[in-house]
Amino acid sequence: MSLLEVRDLRVTFDTPDGVVQAVRGLSFTLEPGRTLGIVGESGSGKSVSTQTLMRLTPGAKVSGEAFFEGQDLLAMNERQLRTLRGAQIAMIFQDPLSSLHPLYKVGWQIAELVRAHEPQTTKAQARQRAIDMLGLVGIPEPGKRVDDYPHQFSGGMRQRAMIAMALTLSPKLIIADEPTTALDATVQAQILDLMRRLQAEFNTALIMITHDLGVIADLADDVLVMYAGAAVEHADRRTLYYRQHHPYTIGLLESVPGSSVAGERLRSIPGQPPSLIRLPAGCKFHPRCEYVMDRCLTEEPVLHTVLTSQEDSDGSHQAACWLPHTAIGLSPEATEIRQTAATAGRTSEASRALAEKYQKGAVSL
Ligand code: SF4
Repeated sequence: MSLLEVRDLRVTFDTPDGVVQAVRGLSFTLEPGRTLGIVGESGSGKSVSTQTLMRLTPGAKVSGEAFFEGQDLLAMNERQLRTLRGAQIAMIFQDPLSSLHPLYKVGWQIAELVRAHEPQTTKAQARQRAIDMLGLVGIPEPGKRVDDYPHQFSGGMRQRAMIAMALTLSPKLIIADEPTTALDATVQAQILDLMRRLQAEFNTALIMITHDLGVIADLADDVLVMYAGAAVEHADRRTLYYRQHHPYTIGLLESVPGSSVAGERLRSIPGQPPSLIRLPAGCKFHPRCEYVMDRCLTEEPVLHTVLTSQEDSDGSHQAACWLPHTAIGLSPEATEIRQTAATAGRTSEASRALAEKYQKGAVSL
């Protein structure tokens, strides 16, 4: 049994302007101790999906199923959810202040979490747990800093404190929503390294939500790419970085800082994501796609197995795109489509350069 199995999750919001189709039929599974990266631009549905699993989307209309150790999260009552949150599933947000109360000491907040879920723990024991956890995540002099308020911590320290809080009860799953976006590059690297180390130590499954494929290049086991509320590509990390199939994934890879060819400007995906109230017909990516074909304008592709190499024969590489493929590499038609685009100056050179970077070991895959 998978730790988490999400089936056909759909989330809509009624607004005065119309129905927002925030998540459109999302399915995935996550095994214990594994990391799933969910990637996409703002409005792709990645955060709404996971917040809905935790029932943090008031006013949403939700359908589908989300089994956590066999229990449907979407069918649980509030009491069952309260027991689960923190103890079994913890969340880390982009802004630590959304989780840390500004008026209470950091250590006290961690200790209270312990006592709320483990009432037999004494105050002294809970305080010691808070000190131990702060030390574990690299807060210097945790015995002193345990009595600091959140505003006395730097941004990186607050994020470490939130990770400490998330791990305190040894949850089986952590959902981290853009946990490093607000941090500078050096602190971001330290936090990612910390999360990788602690995840291995605690054998915690992790869902890492980000708009930046570079952030999870060294962290995720599998990657799910979302666009306009739906999954458009799903593969293990190596496949996604080396042999991505969907043009949107290619665009995201090309947008990773450091992925462009020396002397070339960093590429970006042209255009904007569509309005989730007025989605285009056919493939939702077609207004921005350089490979668009007639069929794309009227028929929306669903996730299906793609075979971009013999290694894909287990069926785990899936994409929602009409571009054809064969068992070994892209078909002649797809290659021609891509070559035509390349001749027109819209190459995927940057993503190839990124893949080469991985091959040279700059990032281990
Ligand atoms: Fe582009 Fe068509 Fe594939 Fe959509 S289905 S991503 S428009 S090639």
